[in-house]
Amino acid sequence: MIKISMGLLDHQDIDLVGEEPPSFLEVENSDMISFHENVKYDLHASKVSNGVLVNGSISIAYDGVCGRCLKEFKGEAANKKLCLFIEDVTEQDLDITEDLRTELVMKLPVNCICSNDCKGLCHDCGVNLNEESCSCHEKSDEDSPWAALDDLDVE
Ligand SMILES: [Zn+2]
Ligand SMILES: [Zn+2]
Repeated sequence: MIKISMGLLDHQDIDLVGEEPPSFLEVENSDMISFHENVKYDLHASKVSNGVLVNGSISIAYDGVCGRCLKEFKGEAANKKLCLFIEDVTEQDLDITEDLRTELVMKLPVNCICSNDCKGLCHDCGVNLNEESCSCHEKSDEDSPWAALDDLDVE
């Protein structure tokens, strides 16, 4: 749990730097994405007139399987410009665990891919087009007005 002592915050800003186990995320490991490293956070909390302002960064490294080329890769989900504002705090110890979890979970990839320009696998022969090229689609590279038609299965 990540808490801010309001008594202390009355007198000074608070830096919160630390780690939490991957279970902090409350996201199950799957075939596509799994978490084995700690969540890391580096936050700065300060008191403002009607609440508490927290900013900083939170991140977690993950092991992913690319949805296009099926290769395993290491990725990181992070919110480097985290900014929370909690209004009208009544607790003595303000628990920001849930807010932080939400901020980080939102940054998890929806489509797990090794890189934005991953070329994926050839639909016909199955080679990883990031590593080698194949001749399956050479015809469509020709600068011919009929090239596009070659890709259609016209009997
Ligand atoms: Zn890939
Ligand atoms: Zn091919």
